[in-house]
Amino acid sequence: MSQSAPEYSLAAHPTTVGNAISSTKPVRVTPTLVIGGHDVVVAAGPCSVEGYDMLLASARHVQSAGGTLLRGGAFKPRTSPYAFQGLGEEGLQLLASVREQTGMPIVTEVMDTRQVERVAQVADVLQVGARNMQNFALLAELGRAGKPVLLKRGASARISELLLAAEYVMANGNERVILCERGIRTFETITRNTLDISAIPVLKAETHLPVIVDPSHAGGRADLVLPLALAAIAAGADGLIVEVHPDPSVARSDADQQLTFAQFTDLMRGISVIAAATNRAVRMPSPSPTLPHIATSGVAARSHDKGRLAEETLTEETLAVVAA
Ligand code: PEP
Ligand code: MN
Repeated sequence: MSQSAPEYSLAAHPTTVGNAISSTKPVRVTPTLVIGGHDVVVAAGPCSVEGYDMLLASARHVQSAGGTLLRGGAFKPRTSPYAFQGLGEEGLQLLASVREQTGMPIVTEVMDTRQVERVAQVADVLQVGARNMQNFALLAELGRAGKPVLLKRGASARISELLLAAEYVMANGNERVILCERGIRTFETITRNTLDISAIPVLKAETHLPVIVDPSHAGGRADLVLPLALAAIAAGADGLIVEVHPDPSVARSDADQQLTFAQFTDLMRGISVIAAATNRAVRMPSPSPTLPHIATSGVAARSHDKGRLAEETLTEETLAVVAA
């Protein structure tokens, strides 16, 4: 029997136009991390998980430069079926072990309803890629996944369609949705996509959902990532998701747009200045805890949270917003 989802309706959660930042309801990622609070939050890491050493090196650099979450695709949505499709299950295991080593929460893509349960065991945030923004069965399944969802805007999707996609997740029981502007397809071909800066204040004003920006897939070129990131934070984005690789020239996917470690450090310095100028700060991660190896992922997850709780403090302002 077919049935429609119970209504969630973003419109029933009014926000105050002109006071967009304070009307955002932060999304809790871990007991000590929210996205959409006072602080700008940065997720970064390689486009694809390619191996243990490169993932750990990326995570350690991202963390030391001020990134909070580690990104990396295990399941890759590639335009060509002949391109590297990701390491799949092996990639998930590498993400889990680097999470255990560094304490960094993981954001990784889930492409199919059949993968949701397994990816949700490893990921702290489940990413829906641009190509899947209107995979309605996947969106509905993510409503039941129990983890926050990072929903990327489709390359040809209107803002209204992005919001209806978010409604699919929320109407199916999961209100922890983070929106991501990653560039849209226009007549321009010099850049991979065109970053829709205006989507940021529009989404911030018209919804209570956090909005982050992916400057890597927007420009498609490493030299454009910094200026696009600065513009995104200036326009009010709650955070960024950025591709970083130990040696972009040998990356198995998106080699042109991945930042070197040095470029990522520069980006973090740059956005700190813009964040301060807009009365915010870039959230700094905890010092990298080296956790003992723990056999089961459930125990590892608890130990990870406890470690972070002990070592991190939330700003007073963020705590107040979360408590509200
Ligand atoms: C990605 O972030 O790995 C990705 C494939 O991005 P998008 O879905 O925005 O193309
Ligand atoms: Mn990529």
